[in-house]
Amino acid sequence: MNDCVFCRIAAGDAPAVKVYEDDALCAFLDIRPIVRGHTLVIPKRHAAALADLDAELGAHVFRAGHRLALAIQRSSLAADGANLVLNDGTAAFQTVPHVHLHVIPRRHRDTLRVALGFLLRRPHDPIATAAAIRGGIAALDNEDNPGAGPHEGADE
Ligand code: 5GP
Ligand code: ZN
Repeated sequence: MNDCVFCRIAAGDAPAVKVYEDDALCAFLDIRPIVRGHTLVIPKRHAAALADLDAELGAHVFRAGHRLALAIQRSSLAADGANLVLNDGTAAFQTVPHVHLHVIPRRHRDTLRVALGFLLRRPHDPIATAAAIRGGIAALDNEDNPGAGPHEGADE
């Protein structure tokens, strides 16, 4: 049995609140978010560190993180920006040995809130938060492809 928790989440064998998924990657809410909407993007294929990750797959993971950051800005979470962070290796404080890109929504003048979030790491209504992010993804999809009709997850 695979003892990697992110592999189990990717396979649907461990619980997670997913906001996006395709054949190669999935994105889900961090269980101990720094701020509301803190999301992780992971490749489905196990890679412990960047050294183990196919570069094309890494580019795909970053592309998804890029789009999620924009989607969170377009969503009802109304972020003003984001920190995209990838901690590679224990020297860089990587704690889960399966590559993951953090997408951390930011607001103007939120420094105190983020500092507090680092200390508390409390979930913020994950179901509603995920629905909001899916709504932002649907809004972006709709802008890219107007007239294509409602998208799955556009439940905001
Ligand atoms: P790292 O320090 O390795 O870059 O961050 C690992 C992140 O994974 C942390 O923010 C932590 O809260 C999150 N995390 C650890 N285990 C789980 C889990 O089982 N489910 C989810 N959703 N997030 C997790
Ligand atoms: Zn894994």
